[in-house]
Amino acid sequence: MPRDRVRCVDCREPVPTDARICPHCRAVQPSPLLDVGLVVGGVFCVLFGVILAVMTVGASRLVGFTLLMLGFGLSVGGYTRYLDRQSSRAAR
Ligand SMILES: [Zn+2]
Repeated sequence: MPRDRVRCVDCREPVPTDARICPHCRAVQPSPLLDVGLVVGGVFCVLFGVILAVMTVGASRLVGFTLLMLGFGLSVGGYTRYLDRQSSRAAR
């Protein structure tokens, strides 16, 4: 990937994308890609779960409901993390 470096949220120094902690000021770096992945994965789980739960019966319907719950939790969790980050950034 060409964009393998991002800037620190705190000191604006370039840091590696996969670094969770800034090497310059030790600020914990947010990973928006991870949140997006969480939400997208959650939405896919929900969609797949709905299809399974509606279209099938028996064990696969149970799996569908489980996916539905899992996907809901994932997407809500990712979105909440995103909102948390926005508010903490605004407060700064
Ligand atoms: Zn920094």
